[in-house]
Amino acid sequence: MTAIRVGIAGAGIAGLTTALSLAHRGIASTVFERAPELSEVGAGLQISPNAGRIFEALGLTAELDRAAVLPEAIDLRSGQTGEPIASLPLGASARQAYGAPYRLLHRADLQSILLEAVRNDNRIELRLGAEAKTVAQTRDGVTLSVDDAEFAFDAMIAADGVHSTLKSAVAGASPPRPSGRTAWRTTIPIGMAPRDLPHERTTVLLSRDAHVVIYPVRGGRLINVIVVIEEDWGDDSWSAPGDPDVLWQRFDRDSTRYISRLTGLDLQWTRWCLTEVAANGAWVDGRIALVGDAAHAMLPFLAQGAAMAIEDADVLARELSNAPVADALQRYQALRRPRVSRIWKTARQAGQIYHLGGAMAVARDLTITAIGGRKLLRRYDWIYGWRS
Ligand SMILES: Cc1cc2nc3c(=O)[nH]c(=O)nc-3n(C[C@H](O)[C@H](O)[C@H](O)COP(=O)(O)OP(=O)(O)OC[C@H]3O[C@@H](n4cnc5c(N)ncnc54)[C@H](O)[C@@H]3O)c2cc1C
Repeated sequence: MTAIRVGIAGAGIAGLTTALSLAHRGIASTVFERAPELSEVGAGLQISPNAGRIFEALGLTAELDRAAVLPEAIDLRSGQTGEPIASLPLGASARQAYGAPYRLLHRADLQSILLEAVRNDNRIELRLGAEAKTVAQTRDGVTLSVDDAEFAFDAMIAADGVHSTLKSAVAGASPPRPSGRTAWRTTIPIGMAPRDLPHERTTVLLSRDAHVVIYPVRGGRLINVIVVIEEDWGDDSWSAPGDPDVLWQRFDRDSTRYISRLTGLDLQWTRWCLTEVAANGAWVDGRIALVGDAAHAMLPFLAQGAAMAIEDADVLARELSNAPVADALQRYQALRRPRVSRIWKTARQAGQIYHLGGAMAVARDLTITAIGGRKLLRRYDWIYGWRS
């Protein structure tokens, strides 16, 4: 076993995957999570093959397959007419091309899988209700203050999310910034769903200044719905129950075939201010490193935020098992930042394209249809086919 001990702040997807990846390489860690218990409700997560392969290498394949839905395709449709624009084939061909399937999961299910793996590994200590306050570097390590106690580690990993506290210890780290967009999220029990609402694949409905993503989770028993609109709402820390009337005013009810099906349903919506952290800031300072949203929170248009956190964890653990801490963290930053910055920018561009209106939208749809789903998917090979 490599004789270093690592502190991790945050038990989200980034923190838990980092702990598991380190343990996989024989490195012990302590995870500090400020929440007294871990409960993630009401939302789905698309786990693309680049991230799925990492979970599989950690021995989580059976657990993931039990919880996931494997969609046959991602269908792009016009939000106005509901007509198909293109269909990106996934299913068996995704596993063949990228070495792992494209999985649709409920966040709570993924979190339980990771949490159980963490609890079953005696190299990981998980402390709930433990808020990391500050971290300071010493000559040969770091000191973390958590509530009233202090802990010493060889390295500190800040996986404390988009509003990271610990990033203040990393000179040059990018601050969080509201993006001027909100995401509205809900789930629909399958029995309540309108019969013609697409629910077996990932469906993306493109509208002016908005788009809707619909996909199944929990073995198809729940349909996850995300609506992203252009909206300056809240400060950069807001997430709250949302009044769907505010949401549906943004859409033309008569012309949006699938969207109008959603307006009549009595659903609990949560409204999130989408916040970005520019990926080209500093991620590392000496023995402290940022991972996941703390380093590079991105817009959800490519469904890659959690996937990048999972890749971060994998690379970070490998580098820490191969080199002294400060060198390893520098290598981690050098290896990860170019790729994540490219994905971060591509997600932004995708947002602009998704939200076009009028003649520009017509031209977009014609172009995408002409390219076709299979070729379009190949444009994402560099994302899904990545190997560390
Ligand atoms: C609408 C939407 C849809 C998305 N869909 C996808 C998708 O389909 N696929 C995908 O890959 N990504 C998706 N993402 C992105 C993904 O959700 C995030 O990138 C990912 O969850 C970030 O994980 P994280 O662990 O870095 O941060 P978080 O999940 O925010 O976890 C941070 C953790 O740290 C804890 N914490 C905070 N401060 C402290 C402290 N001081 N001390 C101790 N603990 C602390 C918090 O309580 C929390 O548990 C989506 C995002 C949005 C908004």
